[in-house]
Amino acid sequence: MSLIIGLTGGIGSGKTSATNIFSAEGITVIDADKIAHELTKSQGIAIPHIKKEFGQDFISKDGSLYREKMRNLIFSNAYSRKKLEDILHPLIQIEIKHCIETASSPYTIVSIPLLLETASYSEEINRILVIDCDEKYQISRTILRDGLNEQEVRSIIAAQESRQLRINRADDVIVNNADICTLENKIKIQHNKYLSLLNKYAEV
Ligand code: ATP
Repeated sequence: MSLIIGLTGGIGSGKTSATNIFSAEGITVIDADKIAHELTKSQGIAIPHIKKEFGQDFISKDGSLYREKMRNLIFSNAYSRKKLEDILHPLIQIEIKHCIETASSPYTIVSIPLLLETASYSEEINRILVIDCDEKYQISRTILRDGLNEQEVRSIIAAQESRQLRINRADDVIVNNADICTLENKIKIQHNKYLSLLNKYAEV
């Protein structure tokens, strides 16, 4: 067994920024969002299931998931969100397991935005790392990045696990309230901590 870190956090908290820094340190990062994107691109293996459940209206002309339409639906309709998750999660989980098996860095980061909402990863993950920031930064950074309005970001935050619950379940928390340089320094400290923990998780 090697050390597998589950990285999570709310929308716009800095998960991608954090995983980019771990990658630069030579650590393999498996990203559930990227896998979901692959599954839902044109010819992606989730597309026929989505078409069957949601109808042709949710498929773009190029054969990929009509992302904007689906996002609008699932953040206003919990039942539809669950239906989409039921299609995607098992497929994502299979791919994550496969990527973990072939990963070769000293430890592996698996970035899963919904890690704490889904019980299914407890077998693979040894420690949970939460990237956290104040809600005001989640909102302003997401508005800046995605061009969403404040209400849209707030409704996404409301549909996710609460910050406090996330922090309660974390083994480690990195607070991303300052600039990117500060985040980089914090990630490097965390990276060294994981390296120092490797013996504990080494194969016996
Ligand atoms: P999502 O859940 O929406 O995928 P995320 O958690 O991956 O988001 P990022 O994409 O890393 O978050 O960060 C959101 C935005 O905030 C990005 O545009 C990123 O460049 C910016 N950002 C992240 N951390 C900081 C920071 N410390 N200072 C300024 N901007 C930041």
